[in-house]
Amino acid sequence: MTTPVFDDEIAGKAFDARLMRRMLRFLTPYRALFGVCVALTIVLAGLELAIPYFSKTAIDRDMALPYAIVTLDAPPSSGNPLSLGEGRYLIRPAIVPEALRAEWERAGALGSERYAFESEDDRAASSVVARNPEAFTRVPGGAIATRKSLTSLPPRDLETLRGGALAGIARLALLYAFALLVRFAFAVLQVYLLEYTGQRVMYDMRREIFRHVLRLPLSFFDRTPVGRLVTRATNDVAAINELFTSMLVNLFRDAFLVVGIVIVIVQLEWRLALIVLALFPLIVLAAWQFRNRARSAYREVRKQLARLNAYLQESISGMRIIQVFVQEAQANRSFLGINTAKFDADMRQIMTFAVFRPLMSFLSSFAIALVLWYSGPSVIRGGLSLGALTAFIQYVRMLFEPVLNLSEGYNVLQAAMASSERIFRLLDESEEDRGGSERVEEFRGRIEFRNVWFAYSEGDWILKDVSFTADPGKRVAIVGPTGAGKTTIIRILLRMYPIQKGEVLIDGRPIESYDLAALRSQMAVVLQDVFLFAGDVMDNIRLRSDIPEEKAIEAARFVSADFVEALPDGYATEVKERGATLSVGERQLLSFARAVAFDPRILVLDEATASIDSHTEHVIQSSLRKIMEGRTSIVIAHRLSTIRESDKILVLHHGTVVEEGTHEELVAAGGLYAALYELQFADLGSGSAASGG
Ligand code: ADP
Repeated sequence: MTTPVFDDEIAGKAFDARLMRRMLRFLTPYRALFGVCVALTIVLAGLELAIPYFSKTAIDRDMALPYAIVTLDAPPSSGNPLSLGEGRYLIRPAIVPEALRAEWERAGALGSERYAFESEDDRAASSVVARNPEAFTRVPGGAIATRKSLTSLPPRDLETLRGGALAGIARLALLYAFALLVRFAFAVLQVYLLEYTGQRVMYDMRREIFRHVLRLPLSFFDRTPVGRLVTRATNDVAAINELFTSMLVNLFRDAFLVVGIVIVIVQLEWRLALIVLALFPLIVLAAWQFRNRARSAYREVRKQLARLNAYLQESISGMRIIQVFVQEAQANRSFLGINTAKFDADMRQIMTFAVFRPLMSFLSSFAIALVLWYSGPSVIRGGLSLGALTAFIQYVRMLFEPVLNLSEGYNVLQAAMASSERIFRLLDESEEDRGGSERVEEFRGRIEFRNVWFAYSEGDWILKDVSFTADPGKRVAIVGPTGAGKTTIIRILLRMYPIQKGEVLIDGRPIESYDLAALRSQMAVVLQDVFLFAGDVMDNIRLRSDIPEEKAIEAARFVSADFVEALPDGYATEVKERGATLSVGERQLLSFARAVAFDPRILVLDEATASIDSHTEHVIQSSLRKIMEGRTSIVIAHRLSTIRESDKILVLHHGTVVEEGTHEELVAAGGLYAALYELQFADLGSGSAASGG
């Protein structure tokens, strides 16, 4: 068994501007909402950027002691110096320009110890100094203390001295809490709006896909497995949603964050920023490598998944054949191969991701180690504040996250591209030709096939020069061996397929000139295998149309579908499992009721071949007779009684009408019909024929 290749394997280009534009068209009605989402996302990213600043301020402004001693030959020009004698000056490094500070640092003039300075003018401070003389060193205008000596003060004195700093920290903490609250509120709003937008887009897409599928010509369904179509409206739509809700918005966020962080760290300490940025080529290289590997791994996974799905679908639906022909071992072997290939593909993808994330984490830690190594001495000497370093490290950590997201988002992009390609390919399938504008209230019901030639695939003629007429209210039976083209004739009459040559006329007009819906609404079709939908019996007769219930019940009684009234809930009885709980005969009767409820002028019937118990058979035959009464009927007939009572019999052989006439005429003619009759019915009476449809 070969595994067919389906378009589920499309992995396609990672980015296709044309597809992207078409996808974005679905977003257009919600662009305002989406814009709000993007704006909220950027505000959120801005808050994220601000948060390390809080800790920096708390550490540098409130926790650290602000004064340092610098030893110089001349008084420094900035830093609000206080001369301590012998060329030593008490300054505030925070207000010294960075270049000057760097110069002092290089010359080793700046001491590493930090001090608190208490002025003599401050009464409260003076009394603390007076009470704890051992903790302070007196200097002109006041006293200074180191962090270590401050720890020996009684708590109340410390509170008096550092009260402002504590209040500052408290204010910052409040501000921080507020920022977190705002972030929380915005994040909730953003997620809600974004998901709402995404869901609306999916809703619209599914609606458009289904609307389109409803209008596709039947020939499309001949070549498209049902499973694929279901996937289009579910999985593929979800892949696009993922692109809109996670990837696209995060793209804005991540790009904003990368740029924002780079600007902030350069501002904070450009030398350190350079060190981190020097790692960037390495990061980009890793991301690039990852992207390539992830792409090929992804393709392989998709391919193997499609094979697995196809094989499972095929073998499960063909399970009866597999078991009856004892092919279990063989099927198991084939499956084993496919299953292993899927496992290998998955593992390769998992490995790619398993390496990438830790690698990025390693690089980020490495960058932080570099920062610590390089900035350590500077922090100790006071060139770089502790708060700035803390903030810096937080930013470096944050910098790697968007890079990671951007690389991994690539997969989402690729999946969405492939999905959109499949969806658009479906949407591009041309819809059924809806026909002309002719809307006839009621057909008289004259059908004529005039030299009709038809082929499903070019050159392979299934109907060859078929001509016949059915007069209003008359019954025409089509007989002939399997594959003769009987079903094809009724499909053409229902305009499921366009013919290549000749004409099909109803009431003298070509069927193409009628509005398709108007045409079909005047024909009712009863097929061999009755398709029942989920719902109750009433729904299945009315097919959700606006036919009144009374009319449906009347139709059911007309065809003697009396069994319905004996069902537990009558017409409201749920039809389960496509009618599995109903017998073949009961399903037939339901389909008759359906046809009668629609009261068509033309009845197209593919008579059931299945044998039914003689009582039901009798009911069905008499119902059939009743529903064909007064309607033009085209019947693929299998039962002798149906054939015999027909006004005209067409004998079809290899797509050609070889004989035409009434039963008696054809038997008398002694041709193919007579031979078929001899063979199949002669000693069966009114039993069913073996000729399939
Ligand atoms: P009958 O109803 O007399 O058994 P059909 O009209 O179903 O015959 O089929 C006539 C021929 O057309 C058969 O050879 C069949 O294989 C072919 N055929 C039927 N349906 C299709 C289709 N959808 N696509 C291609 N070939 C088809």
